[in-house]
Amino acid sequence: MFYRYKEKVKTMKIINNMRGRPKAGFTLVEIMIVVAIIGLLAAIGIPNFVRARQTAQSNACINNLRVIDAAKQQWALEQGKPSTTTPFASDITPYLGRSGSIMPHCPLSDSSGNPPYQIGVLTDPPACPNTNSTHAAVLPI
Ligand SMILES: [Zn+2]
Repeated sequence: MFYRYKEKVKTMKIINNMRGRPKAGFTLVEIMIVVAIIGLLAAIGIPNFVRARQTAQSNACINNLRVIDAAKQQWALEQGKPSTTTPFASDITPYLGRSGSIMPHCPLSDSSGNPPYQIGVLTDPPACPNTNSTHAAVLPI
């Protein structure tokens, strides 16, 4: 009885193989190749993504410095201030454009804007408080 069942199963397997049905699933080598390709793509992509993020933050910071510098100059011109004056943040916020009374802050500062930008004397460009090797945000003269 058991022998006959075993023969029947064997026959079914042969028939299935003759129909050309592939076995379901992947081999270990196939899975390893896919994992290796994904790892290679990640190894190429992640450093580029990090560098693009740092560049975007530096550019946003430089643009903030440019806006602050323009507001400083406009405030001094309108108020007739000498070039040795150091404006406060509250002096230049009306000249910051559509942002109204909101002082921009560096993308590396926290959400409340600490540390804030160093506005400085009228003759000096404003400076970013966050200085490290990957954040070279200096206003071009
Ligand atoms: Zn910055």
